[in-house]
Amino acid sequence: MIDIIVDDITRLEVDAIVNAANSSLLGGGGVDGAIHRAAGPELLDYCRGLGGCPTGEARITPGFELPARWVIHTVGPVWHGGDAGELALLDSAYRASLELARANGARSIAFPAISTGVYGYPKDEAARIALAAMKAYEPCFERIVACCFSEADAAVYRQTLQEVGAT
Ligand code: ADP
Repeated sequence: MIDIIVDDITRLEVDAIVNAANSSLLGGGGVDGAIHRAAGPELLDYCRGLGGCPTGEARITPGFELPARWVIHTVGPVWHGGDAGELALLDSAYRASLELARANGARSIAFPAISTGVYGYPKDEAARIALAAMKAYEPCFERIVACCFSEADAAVYRQTLQEVGAT
């Protein structure tokens, strides 16, 4: 089941939440900052030991003080206009996260809209990639949550899910 909701991802009681991290894995703004604040300082200590993460890949950590058991840190692409491999990298960020969650036995997972904040990826194109990956992995999970941060973002996801679902 794919659920589109509007919420703060740090509050969700799911097995794993996904962090839209940067490649240092040492924290940043946006959803990354919110996740580190809510998880507590142990998360940053743990991330220091991981040695970063290339764009399109994912790494798993405990959730520490979060309700979620795990955080899956993935690095989406910065939008450079669309001719720099952004689509494949964003697709890879979603699928690497889903694979890692599945390999660790997660039954529920929540995603923010990776790359659509400061990384500038167009929201409708990003939603299409996100939902296509989620659909492909839907049978592997009890619940996949698209956690939007605004009602406007959720409207884009709902519209896109109808289009992806029809194909
Ligand atoms: P990126 O660098 O990958 O673009 P950002 O953190 O800037 O990442 O933004 C990614 C998305 O996460 C944006 O849609 C932003 O509105 C959203 N976001 C920011 N904070 C939260 C939060 N606490 N919960 C869920 N989504 C959030």
